[in-house]
Amino acid sequence: MKNTPITVARGDGIGPEIMGAVLDIMKAAKARVDIEEITVGKAVYEAGNSTGIEDSAWASLKKTGVLLKGPISTPQGGGYKSINVTLRKMLGLYANVRPCVSYVPFVASKNPKMDLVIVRENVEDLYGGMEYRGTQGSTTAIKTITADGAERIARYAFEYARTNGRQKVTCMTKDNIMKVTDGLFRRVFEEVGAEYPDIAKEHYIIDIGSARVASRPESFDVILTENLYGDIISDIAAEVTGSVGLAGSANIGGDFAMFEAIHGSAPDIAGRGIANPSGLLLAAVSMLVHIGQGDVAETIHNAWLRTIEDGVHTGEIFRAGVSTERTGTAGFSDAVIARLGQKPQTLAPVSYPHGAAAKDAAQALKPRAPEEKKRVGIDIFIDAKNTTAAELAARFSTMRGDLRLKDISNLGTSVWPESAGNVAALSDSWRLRFVNEKSAVTPQRLTSLLSRFNAASLDVTSTQTLYTFAGKAGYTAAQGEKNAPVLR
Ligand code: NAD
Repeated sequence: MKNTPITVARGDGIGPEIMGAVLDIMKAAKARVDIEEITVGKAVYEAGNSTGIEDSAWASLKKTGVLLKGPISTPQGGGYKSINVTLRKMLGLYANVRPCVSYVPFVASKNPKMDLVIVRENVEDLYGGMEYRGTQGSTTAIKTITADGAERIARYAFEYARTNGRQKVTCMTKDNIMKVTDGLFRRVFEEVGAEYPDIAKEHYIIDIGSARVASRPESFDVILTENLYGDIISDIAAEVTGSVGLAGSANIGGDFAMFEAIHGSAPDIAGRGIANPSGLLLAAVSMLVHIGQGDVAETIHNAWLRTIEDGVHTGEIFRAGVSTERTGTAGFSDAVIARLGQKPQTLAPVSYPHGAAAKDAAQALKPRAPEEKKRVGIDIFIDAKNTTAAELAARFSTMRGDLRLKDISNLGTSVWPESAGNVAALSDSWRLRFVNEKSAVTPQRLTSLLSRFNAASLDVTSTQTLYTFAGKAGYTAAQGEKNAPVLR
């Protein structure tokens, strides 16, 4: 069988030690790979490249499409960019996949039966870094969820479940509050899920979902969620397993994939030969499945489980009475190599599909039927201190023409034409909503409305055009807004 070219970056701190151990195990297990090494991280930063990645490294990545990466030390301050964020963006790594498993009784954990996988959307959401300060007293961040992005990650989660013999996908959002963005993510999950009748589906609101991951993680199988929620919940889940140092993760894109341990470069123990290579080894196992070498992945993973079960443990998981041998990095990899071909006897053995490389979920996007889009109004945000809703309304409520002032809100709560009750604190950022329920609004009409604001010396900090799609509002109501727009 032909070898698959892969790119390897040893990384910083304990990176070279644990990568050496992992490559030894892969070689002994006869992984069919041709390795190209690149240097990323500290040495590249120190040579004056703020991204930590050299141009020649990109050439290798473009060629192989697969990176096995050791941990990197990101220098503090000085405008250095995180390599992970750079790679995620440049290589379009839209899925972050993190298995969280407990290995009780061999590794102490709060939960003995945990075996779940978090599939986190990795490029959208609040991570676009679009944040603004429009008034002295208020700031805003823009959260973006796209239909294609939601479909791509949902499809990835269901394909992952099917390929890996998982039974259920649980989607977690906050669609009770973020009805448009999280509402879209959940709706697309349900649409895509309908194509996978063999996989069970459920939805949790993220807050109770996260609490359940902490208290009853055994009830979850694959968890699908957005970028920010996924960031938080992956650390909760990894922590509950009790074995953060043993976890690996995969970052998957349409054309590229990157595999790494979830821990960092551990400078406190670097160079001492005592680091645990398990997190990076399990990342390498995911990589082997991804490139269609499930047979090799299975052999390595089962030998690793057997090693853990036999009590051969590195210092940070060593426990008297449970562990039988305290070992260093090289001793641990020798122990795994000695067990290649063996299966665990207490822990469940793993099995991976032999042969088929992971499907490129990005290719499978479905064309969406075009919906009639109509411009129906505008929200105008202004910076206004020492004023009242009534004063602001007086300037616009008698306005003639096709746009009428429908609502004024502050911090998302309607304060005009009626106050929704006790609006405890008003900010200096006000929103005036103008709509036309009868006919489409022209862009010229919006411009002339804005010039009225200029003429009145009102400071417009931002605007958002309001649209309907197939007759349904593409915007939410303010809390307490009269005649709230119909979303679905
Ligand atoms: P860390 O994960 O490197 O270390 C936390 C603690 O866990 C330390 O006590 C360390 O000794 C221990 N530890 C980590 N991995 C271990 C292993 N394999 N075996 C045994 N013990 C292990 O986190 P940190 O100290 O916050 O970060 C150190 C550096 O790593 C920083 O520069 C940070 O930016 C970087 N980092 C990189 C990545 C990455 O490349 N993906 C992720 C996290 C942190």
